[in-house]
Amino acid sequence: MTDSVEFAHVFLFRCAACGRPLASACASTQSNLELADAHLFDPHCFCGWTGTLMGLESVKHWVEPWESPTLVAKESDSCDGKLEQPLGS
Ligand SMILES: [Zn+2]
Repeated sequence: MTDSVEFAHVFLFRCAACGRPLASACASTQSNLELADAHLFDPHCFCGWTGTLMGLESVKHWVEPWESPTLVAKESDSCDGKLEQPLGS
């Protein structure tokens, strides 16, 4: 199998303290927006603010097909790896 196409989920958050745009991204084996919306991010802002935000709270969320030599979506920083509760049936 040489199927190493994944999806990069890109999130644009707004800093809760100063309003700067903060970008976060994660890799997923799926393009499903709702799945990645459940992912938690810990963005850090230049103003010193940091916090935990759900993908759902982003200003903008988009998906790009992502080719990678290894399946990064299997790593811990992927959208798929940090779900609070795995989406069941
Ligand atoms: Zn800030």
